Amino acid sequence: MIEKRNFYINGEWVAPIEARDCEVIDPSTEEPCAVISLGSDADADAAVAAAKAALPGWMATPVAERIALVEKLLEIYMERGEDLAQSMSIAMGAPIDMARSQQVGAGSFHLKNFINAAKKFQFDRPLDEKYPNDRIIYEAVGVAALITPWNWPMNQITLKVGAAAIAGCTMILKPSEESPLDAMVFAELMDAAGFPKGVFNLVNGDGIGVGTRLSGHPDVDMVSFTGSTRAGIAISKNAAETLKKVHLELGGKGANVVFADADEKAVKRGVLHMMNNTGQSCNAPSRMLVQSGIYDQAVEIAAEVASKITVASAHDEGNHMGPVVNKTQWEKIQGLIQKGIDEGARLIAGGPGLPENFNKGFYVKPTVFADVTPDMTIAREEIFGPVLSIMKFETEEEAIAIANDTEYGLTNYVQTQDPARANRMARVLRSGMVEMNGKPRSAGAPFGGMKKSGNGREAGIFGIEDFMEIKAVSGWTPE
Ligand code: NAD
Repeated sequence: MIEKRNFYINGEWVAPIEARDCEVIDPSTEEPCAVISLGSDADADAAVAAAKAALPGWMATPVAERIALVEKLLEIYMERGEDLAQSMSIAMGAPIDMARSQQVGAGSFHLKNFINAAKKFQFDRPLDEKYPNDRIIYEAVGVAALITPWNWPMNQITLKVGAAAIAGCTMILKPSEESPLDAMVFAELMDAAGFPKGVFNLVNGDGIGVGTRLSGHPDVDMVSFTGSTRAGIAISKNAAETLKKVHLELGGKGANVVFADADEKAVKRGVLHMMNNTGQSCNAPSRMLVQSGIYDQAVEIAAEVASKITVASAHDEGNHMGPVVNKTQWEKIQGLIQKGIDEGARLIAGGPGLPENFNKGFYVKPTVFADVTPDMTIAREEIFGPVLSIMKFETEEEAIAIANDTEYGLTNYVQTQDPARANRMARVLRSGMVEMNGKPRSAGAPFGGMKKSGNGREAGIFGIEDFMEIKAVSGWTPE
């Protein structure tokens, strides 16, 4: 059993002022794998005070030096990749090979992209050629609280910490209580990279405790949050009193629109994408909209692909699907699968209960429903598990209407070999991201949503800008 009770505050690992022990459960075995502390208001306050004290010095540090420290962080991150992978795998159930490649890989990708973007960005520049005495200065928002979820832990932590550090913000990270171990390894990396004391602080805690304290704290200038829409709303309300900036990356219910002229791998790709990370991705293409001409064939392919996915422990090497994160999620997913059956969707793969040969662990069968209609619960709610809903459409207009008929707006996907149609779709789909024909976003592209998927834009220069204020100065004297 791993014991990690201390917090990282003001450049040191310190015992909590007042905390409760919390067991971290390994979802592959249902056994406790670690014990951490859940901090109190006093612990959150201590971290905020450290971040506040460090702010003037960090803001005054030349941006080139801040970038150099992030470069050092990246170097150490690469060296400690295995520790990060192991700690994510054991606590949130990402199969170890996937944790090594995708979960750890996402973090190094983001740090590299921040470094490249920042080196090209003018943090201090004239308004334009016509007004050289009007100066535009980008400066740090201030003290930032970073609240992260468990599903892609290093992805979210690096997206926030890398951007905040380059922007000149000091920060308090409150990682998810479901996946705290990787965040503690990350704090060791920040320490080893040599960031000045107080620039980065880590306090473990739950949402109601430390999360609420941070989002309402008068000395916190900004909250950058990734997680559920429910918590995003609670944070926004709590932050309103202090009028701090609130950047939100929330849930999703992405449509994957497969036209009859889609490439032959489109359906298989969509199913595998849905099941990646056991369906626990905000940008999962969870609604597959298929045009009527290829509908029956698509349903057949989807059933076959899903039924061939193997489910196994996150500790095992190989290319399989691991468990979902915890019992609450497992039960929620089971309830929604049952709801799909009860509301009349056609189950074509998977279904309720543990997969064969399992009697414990939070494993879910890769599940696919066909003949899903837009009013069904499984077409509307974010399931956050390996459950795909297939829906039929006739025309492009109908596909657009179904795709946009959701309170979310994170990522939509389009599969067609007609370039004009693909571009039309990209313009009308109401989501922060549209990915076409299996082409992922490139380095430095912004990640974020519309509607109830949030308002932040992370990654590349867009992510750094999220942590900066824009100051307009007139009457500037050229030096
Ligand atoms: P969650 O909202 O339960 O928790 C996320 C974090 O917020 C945790 O650190 C938690 O302790 C904290 N928290 C919870 N309630 C809080 C409150 N009232 N005040 C302050 N902090 C609070 O979400 P989760 O279950 O950890 O993650 C899954 C959700 O995250 C899904 O809805 C998923 O779509 C979303 N997500 C979104 C993105 C994105 O970029 N849009 C990325 C990943 C995950």
